Amino acid sequence: MHQHMSDTAGPEIDRIAGRDGSNTALSSNDLPMAVLARSLTRIYKLGSVQVTGIDGIDLAIPTGRMVVLKGDSGSGKSTLLSLIGGLDRLTTGELTVAGRDLKHCSQADLTAFRRTAVGMIFQSFNLLPTLSVLENVCLPGLLAGRTYAAVRPRARELLDWLGLGERLRHLPYQLSGGEMQRTAIARALINNPAILLADEPTGNLDSRNGRRVISLLADLNLKFNRTVIVATHSTLADSFAGVILRLQDGRLTT
Ligand code: ADP
Ligand code: MG
Repeated sequence: MHQHMSDTAGPEIDRIAGRDGSNTALSSNDLPMAVLARSLTRIYKLGSVQVTGIDGIDLAIPTGRMVVLKGDSGSGKSTLLSLIGGLDRLTTGELTVAGRDLKHCSQADLTAFRRTAVGMIFQSFNLLPTLSVLENVCLPGLLAGRTYAAVRPRARELLDWLGLGERLRHLPYQLSGGEMQRTAIARALINNPAILLADEPTGNLDSRNGRRVISLLADLNLKFNRTVIVATHSTLADSFAGVILRLQDGRLTT
């Protein structure tokens, strides 16, 4: 992992990441943007009924930030993360993530983007039940066209770092919730994505494991300069957040 992620980033990285206190504004013209959204809208059509998931959001998230998304259930957090992660397509507006135009790209480009540019973590872990911990973590690497032999060393390294070095052959049902979520974090990192998206990652965890997951996400942001966007009701992440965004009825209120 260390060969891919620099933990010796200097003051410039601190400035971009907003850790020196000099840059608290979300939008700034001279920073590389991890996420750039203009009038971003996602409308779900259910027969003749239209449900608005995201309603005209303008957003610029500089590379290297940790952003916490808050809002009541139904406010659009999961919809926004799905759009940013390329799991879903916007209805109108513009969306560029890690330099990719997610509005105009082909379905094949969107799939490639999803596999390499972003890593996603979910409340319900979403591990494949018949694959071991090691296999679950390697899978996105295989889907991205790498061989098991090429992917496995990095998977082991990640799992060691996450305290799962003794769990490589376990199946998901043999793990605790905290171990399942740390496996999902390793899986999200296997293709070395610039952006990590987490949708209620502590929702199924007790407070101790929830803290551990949040502090891992904060480590990935602070030590390894990953952009992290986490939707959570919990206040655990607030102290690590460069920015807290609040959603209400599909719109940003801050
Ligand atoms: P949150 O994650 O903040 O709870 P969501 O993004 O899941 O909010 O939902 C935002 C709105 O979009 C809600 O009104 C929800 O019912 C609607 N919605 C989300 N996903 C779908 C879907 N697949 N089909 C129809 N409506 C949806
Ligand atoms: Mg949600």
